[in-house]
Amino acid sequence: PINEAELTFLSRSANEGFARTAAACFAAQLDPTLEEVNDIKTAVSEAVTNAIVHAYPDRLGKVLLRLRLYEDQTLEIQVRDWGVGIADVEKARTPLFTTGSEERSGMGFTIMESFMDQVRVRSAPGKGTTVVLRR
Ligand code: ATP
Ligand code: MG
Repeated sequence: PINEAELTFLSRSANEGFARTAAACFAAQLDPTLEEVNDIKTAVSEAVTNAIVHAYPDRLGKVLLRLRLYEDQTLEIQVRDWGVGIADVEKARTPLFTTGSEERSGMGFTIMESFMDQVRVRSAPGKGTTVVLRR
């Protein structure tokens, strides 16, 4: 990468906005349109919310936001946690699939996919999850 920044925070919902805004500020060097910034914020918000809501169901844990800019202007955003992990990633990515409560719609991954060019998920039960977003 030609530029890189990292942010580590606790899985408190108050930090979702912090992470979303940090990603938008990092993306500003690409001179994005308002629509592009909003797309990035929406995708980051979904990934970070998942780490906050699902990864650590009964404790606070660490979440890492890693922002990278490559020479070809590709933006890569990684959201990593060391929580419960996802047993079946393909199933988790299916629209409307959720293990959450009533208020969750199971659309987080679908939203990430629609706002970013590429969404990769690496996860292992008991070890954690890394979501890599690119555009
Ligand atoms: P919504 O995002 O619409 O509020 P949701 O979070 O359930 O609902 P997705 O974001 O698509 O929907 O995630 C689907 C499922 O994948 C979740 O219900 C959860 O079981 C699992 N999941 C997603 N991210 C994580 C994570 N970081 N750690 C553990 N499980 C996760
Ligand atoms: Mg979600």
